[in-house]
Amino acid sequence: MILVDVQEGAEQKVGYSYTDPGNANFILALVSRLAASTPLYSVQSFMEHPEADTSTYVWGKILVITRYKQQKLLLEEKLSKLSSAEIPRGIVSVRTIDDSPSHQAEVVICDLARSNGPGFRRDLKRLAVMTTRAQGMTILVGQEAMFAVKNSAISELYDYLKSRDSIVKVSGWKVVCSHCLIPGHDQTTCQNKVVCSFCQGDHAGRHCMEAQPFNQATFANVPEVDDIFRPIFSSGKVEKGQTVKKVKHQRVQAKKESAANYHAKEARKLTQSFYSYDKPADANKSQDGSIPQIPLASICLGVMK
Ligand SMILES: [Zn+2]
Ligand SMILES: [Zn+2]
Repeated sequence: MILVDVQEGAEQKVGYSYTDPGNANFILALVSRLAASTPLYSVQSFMEHPEADTSTYVWGKILVITRYKQQKLLLEEKLSKLSSAEIPRGIVSVRTIDDSPSHQAEVVICDLARSNGPGFRRDLKRLAVMTTRAQGMTILVGQEAMFAVKNSAISELYDYLKSRDSIVKVSGWKVVCSHCLIPGHDQTTCQNKVVCSFCQGDHAGRHCMEAQPFNQATFANVPEVDDIFRPIFSSGKVEKGQTVKKVKHQRVQAKKESAANYHAKEARKLTQSFYSYDKPADANKSQDGSIPQIPLASICLGVMK
């Protein structure tokens, strides 16, 4: 489980309900990047055929749970803009908490939405429902400040996440450029050149009219949608030197490894990338000097040990 602190997240009142566009923008990008960068296999496939070629596994599911109906509508509207080349249809669903107890998924994204007011502080039963739906990984998206209630269950959860270095801060998600899909600026000031991988046009792959939907998708055939690399947990910047060619090359290399090694390596890499995010030196060492494991390793759903 990790907590992503979306720094500009802020609720807006819509009728009697609330929305949080910052959280929603981040979740949209998170879903698309998860699909393109993480082996998102069905837990069932893995359990039934652990030795099989992973490219034959079916996709795992992503469930987004939110607290407010208006936020659910906003999320659904945003997610409907993902191209089918980014993520196959039917993989992602959005539910409100009260509608989710009998549902589960490999990855569950909990949109904590409300940044002001009591929010979950007075509603721990619902928080418990939200955070126990995942078969693989839970990603909480909200604001760190929500957890600041001393000696409560919610602060215990916070301390648990903190002790495992499982809190990531991201910023810039209030605006997302509709041209390059990178947060922190809008299309009127966009300086980024985007080349579509499908048609070589000057638009992001999400907007390509020629992108072909694919029905029998597996992780292995998610195409790169354009030539911009968008690291989800960093903000507003494209990493220098990260081009589609490089990412493709890295994937080819990765495929050469055996399936088991590949999973384990990816899991370690992911864990490591969170450790190195915003951490004070040595803060992650536990008393005996070993680096504690965080549950994030299980994001590679093939790695269940
Ligand atoms: Zn842009
Ligand atoms: Zn195109």
